[in-house]
Amino acid sequence: MFLEKIFEKLLEIGNDVYLNEKMEYHTSFRIGGPVSLFVVPNSINAFIETYKFLSGKIQVKVVGKCTNILPKDEKMEIAVISTERLNNIDFQEDRIICESGVLLKKLCIEAMDKSLSGFEKAYGIPGSVGGAIYMNAGAYGWETAENLEYVVAFDGNKLIKLGVNELDLSYRSSIFKKREDLIILKASFRALKGEKEKIRDEMLDIIKKRYQKQPLEFPSAGSVFKRPKPDFYVGTAIEKLGFKGFTIGGAQVSKKHAGFIINLGDAKSKDVKEIIEIIKNKVKKEFNVDLETEIEIW
Ligand SMILES: Cc1cc2nc3c(=O)[nH]c(=O)nc-3n(C[C@H](O)[C@H](O)[C@H](O)COP(=O)(O)OP(=O)(O)OC[C@H]3O[C@@H](n4cnc5c(N)ncnc54)[C@H](O)[C@@H]3O)c2cc1C
Repeated sequence: MFLEKIFEKLLEIGNDVYLNEKMEYHTSFRIGGPVSLFVVPNSINAFIETYKFLSGKIQVKVVGKCTNILPKDEKMEIAVISTERLNNIDFQEDRIICESGVLLKKLCIEAMDKSLSGFEKAYGIPGSVGGAIYMNAGAYGWETAENLEYVVAFDGNKLIKLGVNELDLSYRSSIFKKREDLIILKASFRALKGEKEKIRDEMLDIIKKRYQKQPLEFPSAGSVFKRPKPDFYVGTAIEKLGFKGFTIGGAQVSKKHAGFIINLGDAKSKDVKEIIEIIKNKVKKEFNVDLETEIEIW
C-alpha cells in the first residue's frame, strides 16, 4: 500500500517507475535481486523533486549505468534512482558541460567529432559521467580528474558548485565516496583543440587493446580489485596463483584477464562474493597484500 501511494506521486513528478525491479536487468554483471523501487527521472528538476520526496521514507541509492555494482541476490528494501535520462551535453568551445547521466562513450565520441582532445583514453570505459567522477575512473594512465573543471552537486537541499580541487580526487576515489548525501548532477570538463583524425586513431587503438585484453564478450563489472600499490598488478598476481578459469556456480575468473570475474550466464551475487573472498585470502597468504574491491558490493 505504501509503495502504491508513492508510485502515483513519482509518476506525477515525471519519472518512469518500476516496482520490485530486478537489478540484474540494469547491471553490466547481469546480477542482482529486486529493489522496492527503480525510478528514472526525466529531468534534473524531476530528479531533485524525487530525491527530496523519497528521502526519509525509504533508503535511497543513486546509480548511473550500474557498470561498477554487484547487488545482492535477495530482495532489497530500497529505492534506486537512475541518472540515465539526464543525458544533455553542451559544448562551449573547449568547455563541455554534461548532465551526470551522459555516457562516457557519448562524451568521447562527441568530443572527437568536434576535434576536442583529452578523452581518447577514456573511450571504452562503460558507465556515466556521474559514475566516472564518483570513482575517478581511469585507464591507460588517464583519470577523470585530468579534464574535470567543476561539479554541480545536490546535497539534499540545495545545489552546490564544487571546483575540481574540492573533490578529493585520488586513485579510484573522490569526496562522493565519503559523502553519500552529495549527488552529482552536472559536470564541466575542459578539452584541448586537437586533430580529429589523430583523436579517432587513438580511440580506435585504445578500443582494440580493450577487446584484446578484456573479456568483453561476457557480462562483468570490469576489474574487480583496486591496484593496492603502483607496482602490484592484481591480474598478474591472480593469474600466478592459478585462478584463471576458477569457477563457482555461474561466476568465473576470466581466462582472458584474471582481474575480471565474468558471469557465464546464471551467476549469483553469492558466487562472485565467494570467489572474491577466496582470492583475497590467497593473495594475502602468498603476497602479504590486502586487496580491496573496486566494484561496489551492495
Ligand atoms: C567491461 C568493463 C570495463 C571497465 N573498465 C574500466 C576502466 O578501464 N576504468 C575504470 O575506472 N572503470 C572501469 N569499469 C568500471 C565502471 O565502468 C566505471 O567505474 C564507471 O565509471 C562506473 O559508472 P556507472 O555510471 O556505471 O556507475 P554505477 O555503477 O551506476 O555506480 C557506481 C557508483 O557511483 C555512484 N554514482 C553513480 N552516479 C552518481 C551520481 N550522479 N552522483 C553520485 N554518485 C553516483 C553510485 O552510487 C555507485 O556508488 C569497467 C566496467 C566494465 C563492465
